[in-house]
Amino acid sequence: KELPSDDNSENTRRQVFKAAYSFVRPLIPSNPILIHSSKQLAKDIGLEVKDLTSKEFLEIFSGTTVYPNTKPYAMAYAGHQFGNWAGQLGDGRAINLFEVNQNNKQWAFQLKGAGETPYSRQGDGLAVLRSSIREYLCSEAMHHLGVPTTRALSLMLSGDDVLRDMLYDGNSAYEKGAIVCRVAPTFIRFGNFELFASRQDFKNLKKLTDYTIRHFFPHMGNPSKTVYVKLFREVALRTLDMIIHWQRVGFVHGVMNTDNMSILGLTIDYGPYGWLEGFDFGWTPNTTDRQNKRYRFGNQPNIGLWNLLQLANALYPLVEEAEPFESVLKSYQTDFERKSLEMMCSKLGLHTIKQSDLKLITSLEDCLLAEETDMTIFFRLLSNYKKGEPMKGISIIKDAFYNLDQLSDDAVSHWNNWFLEYDKRLQLETLANIDRKKVMNLANPKYVLRNYMAQLAIDDADKGDYGLIDELFDLLKHPYDEQPSKEKWFVKRPEWARHKVGCSM
Ligand code: AMP
Ligand code: MG
Ligand code: MG
Repeated sequence: KELPSDDNSENTRRQVFKAAYSFVRPLIPSNPILIHSSKQLAKDIGLEVKDLTSKEFLEIFSGTTVYPNTKPYAMAYAGHQFGNWAGQLGDGRAINLFEVNQNNKQWAFQLKGAGETPYSRQGDGLAVLRSSIREYLCSEAMHHLGVPTTRALSLMLSGDDVLRDMLYDGNSAYEKGAIVCRVAPTFIRFGNFELFASRQDFKNLKKLTDYTIRHFFPHMGNPSKTVYVKLFREVALRTLDMIIHWQRVGFVHGVMNTDNMSILGLTIDYGPYGWLEGFDFGWTPNTTDRQNKRYRFGNQPNIGLWNLLQLANALYPLVEEAEPFESVLKSYQTDFERKSLEMMCSKLGLHTIKQSDLKLITSLEDCLLAEETDMTIFFRLLSNYKKGEPMKGISIIKDAFYNLDQLSDDAVSHWNNWFLEYDKRLQLETLANIDRKKVMNLANPKYVLRNYMAQLAIDDADKGDYGLIDELFDLLKHPYDEQPSKEKWFVKRPEWARHKVGCSM
């Protein structure tokens, strides 16, 4: 622990040893303005809807005032970035305000973009409106999709300008600064464990691990070597579960560095993430990863495993036996195969799961990859398929093709063959068309935060119009429902948005 300080003079950027965090006061913004807040999350954490528009809320969640008797802090962590050891990282632009216990659930509140900390390195500790809107909308959308994630309580303008490099032209410009309040039971990451392990600070490694078990995995009992392995097994399962959800909805995280892996298996750090438009295992939204495509869609499950290996290395000193960790990592692979098959079968409306369904899935993926086919629209429309009518298959899903007019004869025949196989397989199922459709629609969202949708909201917000943030927020609260008045969001990406994705800074 470090001494609290009234000013930030002790909190210069530096290596912080033997500490899990440093006290730091959020920067006081010039003119904070609330843009949006999440009513449902407010209720979950014990706030009333009217609290959201109070002066106190604005002051506390913009960093203007510190809640009485609390001591905001930034966490120290390390990590592997793009496969390389990066040393100490830490909360460079996130400041934890306090924790709240509501109905026996612990919630930590964190401001993102509230100024520098000892871990800011070359950064300014700030966030721009653009990236804050992306984090705010996407984390709540993911929650409503049923994907484990950190939440977002509020989105505010800081009233200060922030200097940023522009993505494409290499120039710098001022942008509006913003602050998001993120909420999760804890923001502890794989990287927190890696930091202590890398410094051979086993005393603090044990303290952190014991704290994690006591607070977030209390059912495991008192910390011991066996319980450390149990913890690792549980984290592996949750991480895999999260990634399977990503694959199901077509979410590509974009920066799966170990400092962005939550110990609770929550999706964390919404930076250069993106949503699949055309189905493509090779796609990544991260422009700094276009060469290796390490974090491409199809590689996310492998990276999960790689990251778990780093966590295993970090926890190893507490157990001093490799075998139990190796066995967990091994089962990740078999669990992945099983869960991935189950997930794909659910998307296809196959209730019974057969090993031979793998072939049907692979040939579908081949079809999807061969012609640019919108993933979300394809799976949603597929639920309209009627048994015994394979030749009508293509016409049912035709709106998912980006170039319907240019569909080659070959492509048509591949798709027809696939529908023949799909139909054969459906004959083994007992569900009636209408019931299969209902079940499929629970696995295949109709509305996701397409990259261009976030961009439109950002463009409007830059001009001071927040209506679209409101509209998208409400739309994405019910991603699996038919929302007839909102069909305009159930369309393919417009051509102007082909190469547009957001960015992380
Ligand atoms: P990320 O790629 O977002 O996971 O960030 C990697 C590291 O850089 C983390 O330690 C962040 O806290 C830090 N970081 C990112 N942006 C900023 C910023 N604007 N100011 C200070 N630190 C930053
Ligand atoms: Mg991060
Ligand atoms: Mg980030």
